[in-house]
Amino acid sequence: MTIGLLKETSPETRVSLLPEHITQLKKWNVEVLVERSAGESAFASDEAYQAAGAQVVSREDVLQRSTLVSCIHAPIDSDMLICKAQVVFGLFQPLYFASRIKQWAEKGFTVFSIDMLPRTTRAQSMDVLSSQGNITGYKAVLLAANLYPKYFPMFMTAAGTVAPAKLLILGAGVAGLQAIATAKRLGAVVEVFDTRPAVKEEVMSLGAKFVEVEGAADAANAGGYAVEQSEEFMQRQKAKIAESVVKADVVITTAQIPGKKAPVLITEEMIGGMKSGSVIIDVAAATGGNTSLTVNNETVVYNGVSIVGNSALPAAMPSDASKLFGKNIINFLQLIIDKEGNLNLNFEDDLVKGTCVANAGAVTNERIKALIG
Ligand code: NAD
Repeated sequence: MTIGLLKETSPETRVSLLPEHITQLKKWNVEVLVERSAGESAFASDEAYQAAGAQVVSREDVLQRSTLVSCIHAPIDSDMLICKAQVVFGLFQPLYFASRIKQWAEKGFTVFSIDMLPRTTRAQSMDVLSSQGNITGYKAVLLAANLYPKYFPMFMTAAGTVAPAKLLILGAGVAGLQAIATAKRLGAVVEVFDTRPAVKEEVMSLGAKFVEVEGAADAANAGGYAVEQSEEFMQRQKAKIAESVVKADVVITTAQIPGKKAPVLITEEMIGGMKSGSVIIDVAAATGGNTSLTVNNETVVYNGVSIVGNSALPAAMPSDASKLFGKNIINFLQLIIDKEGNLNLNFEDDLVKGTCVANAGAVTNERIKALIG
């Protein structure tokens, strides 16, 4: 089989496979076509891809000569019109863009969306949401530290004492936990909210305070993910969050519910009560944001508080982000490539089945089917 690697369009800087991953594919007898300058923004040259055994070709060639096309974001409609690949593989957010998956299914593509990977122990090495979420949490804190006009750590100096920054983190998933660890390393005092009581121990073991709000909906059957909460719970949670927001110097918001709009946890009124110079980094911006003032890909300044809407933080570290993303992909591809280097789709495998969203002319995922009616 032939795997084709597409160049992402700006502002994305990552690429789904680096030359080191091509070396692995070549060991499996897979031919690789790479779109010209695909790795440019991730510091991987065409020469490095060629040295790893790939052919560097045009975008049209990648789309027309590959068995499987690998990318991060969805190719545009005109790409899909000329695409002759059997399989399209990427991170397509199918629960938000369900109609696109339907269109691709009707055109006969088999579509794998790696963000639909079941989150089981066996899947951990393939989990791009975790590898990229980790970068998001790390970068969110560094970005906040850069924007915040004061120290993060406490300092006792001959010129006086500086109090440590107070950080509030909403959502302790992969990004939130890394944000806690990074903020603690920088010396901040950290307080955390999450609706999943299971994360309390992890939060505390990182040295942060976990603020519990009683009565969250049980997420036991949601595969470790959060579920939507009742209006009554959200009101009580908001009241508790308001007490913490007013004291916080920096807020990092990461709260998300897969397939749903992000919950609004911080209101305009709460932001109005924050100290001037405070910073909010909202990494849930792309799914609506956790504050009522968040604008995706923009920084809004309200009453002296900067609210940064940025869900694309992995793109700020394209080299490491692509390295980890590509390794996740290689680990998944092992499941669908046989020893002779041929495509072998075994839908008996729960990870293959769970990640595949379209096959044989139809949408195969029940949640996406429900969304498109
Ligand atoms: P996510 O990005 O979907 O959500 C971030 C966090 O927001 C979650 O912890 C969620 O509980 C929280 N949240 C949602 N609503 C909230 C609210 N109203 N207030 C406060 N917080 C709220 O989550 P994620 O980082 O992708 O992963 C979540 C969990 O999935 C992990 O912690 C883990 O349990 C599980 N997971 C499993 C595997 C695996 O086993 N392979 C891999 C990664 C993650």
